[in-house]
Amino acid sequence: MTQPRREVLQKLTPVLTKRWLSPDAWKIDTYERLDGYSALRKALDVHPDDLIQLVKDSGLRGRGGAGFPTGLKWNFIPQGDGKPHYLVINADEGEPGTCKDLPLMTYDPHSLVEGAIIASYAIRASRAFIYIRGEAVHAARRLRYAVREAYAKGYLGENILGSGFDLDLVVHSGAGAYICGEETALLDSLEGFRGQPRLRPPFPAVAGLYASPTVVNNVGTIASVPYIVLGGADWWKSMGTEKSSGPMIYSLSGRIANPGQYECGLGITLRELIELAGGMKPGHSLKFWTPGGSSTPLLTAEHIDTPMDFEGVAAAGSILGTTAMQIFSDQDCPVYATWRWLEFYHHESCGKCTPCREGNYWMVRTYRRILSGEGTPADLDTLQDTADNIFGRSFCGLGDGAATPVVSTLKWFRQDYLDYIEGRTAPRLSAKALVGA
Ligand code: NAD
Ligand code: SF4
Repeated sequence: MTQPRREVLQKLTPVLTKRWLSPDAWKIDTYERLDGYSALRKALDVHPDDLIQLVKDSGLRGRGGAGFPTGLKWNFIPQGDGKPHYLVINADEGEPGTCKDLPLMTYDPHSLVEGAIIASYAIRASRAFIYIRGEAVHAARRLRYAVREAYAKGYLGENILGSGFDLDLVVHSGAGAYICGEETALLDSLEGFRGQPRLRPPFPAVAGLYASPTVVNNVGTIASVPYIVLGGADWWKSMGTEKSSGPMIYSLSGRIANPGQYECGLGITLRELIELAGGMKPGHSLKFWTPGGSSTPLLTAEHIDTPMDFEGVAAAGSILGTTAMQIFSDQDCPVYATWRWLEFYHHESCGKCTPCREGNYWMVRTYRRILSGEGTPADLDTLQDTADNIFGRSFCGLGDGAATPVVSTLKWFRQDYLDYIEGRTAPRLSAKALVGA
């Protein structure tokens, strides 16, 4: 392991992660001692419209993957429409490699609860939900505990801190379906239906939960709000870049010395992040990586100096996504990695639309054939053709996401495919993989 240089260490900006290592920060007494709920007191003295303006001024963009401007989304909520408004927090973190929201909810759940109260106040919602993935049992337990504590202290319920503002916050556990992280499938699931995506538009801001105006925001987005209220828009913008403001939690996994979460201003490069993580594992050199989970186009070693912000990653031909950076080395096989991701997406496809349901089924079969040494050069054309027919023709992002690593690896690593097909690489799967395929 190598020690990061001082100037690189200084790029760490612990904001959302700053309490993670404080013992008992998940309990309200500790949270309050560490400045917790002071942003709420400040926010309740401000007009809701001014809070929306503050979030707009900060340039905060959604941390769930798409990077949509948060203040703009809040502004879409019509006022005086007579309908109830809802805040729904998407805590169904499931993108392969992504692990920033679960530690946040486990170690610092009150920052999310406090952000939820402020955001609900800003959009005039009196009911909010946190939809957490079913497998995250421990994080859900911590969240429920935090919500109970917040009620007991008068931060939730009626007439919060004497402000006249009422809010109920419900923690709802999903049943472990990846598709319920898609915002409209999440809303269907929350309403008690099978979680399948709805047609957009209308977007949830217009017709969301129970057909009412709804803001759906990611955990990291909402947890950022108290810091913006306390620190101000200019302080937030002092981290990150002009168009991608603030700190971001980068989740590094794979062939690096110290996998984990590194919070830095948007725009840091992979080279610097790897240095912060103690370098590559001994004997490994970078071959390919995901900038934001497996549904974002893969990048290679030549992209190591890409600025990790929305614009920088787009200029390199990919998407910042969830900043889940899975690092693969010269000892990893891109064909095998793609097959593993594809098995996941195939399993998680909700089956609503044909390109994703059927396309993933056929692509998985083709990968199994190639990896068991039975592939032919024509399989590569079939894979490209199938992926091209999934892209842009699927009902929701899952289809596009599944096809992404296929297209990326065919583009960057065609030779690795041919090595299986032409017998230079030993099969990774036995003939059993083809049974039933
Ligand atoms: P999107 O760009 O379609 O929408 C982003 C957000 O902006 C949504 O909340 C949407 O309602 C809102 N929006 C967009 N246009 C709008 C308009 N005209 N009016 C009102 N609201 C509008 O992205 P998406 O399909 O919601 O999400 C895709 C992203 O999700 C991908 O970038 C991927 O990285 C990410 N993702 C994350 C995870 C995870 O575990 N966090 C899992 C899978 C995918
Ligand atoms: Fe369901 Fe896949 Fe179609 Fe999305 S793209 S609606 S997950 S079948």
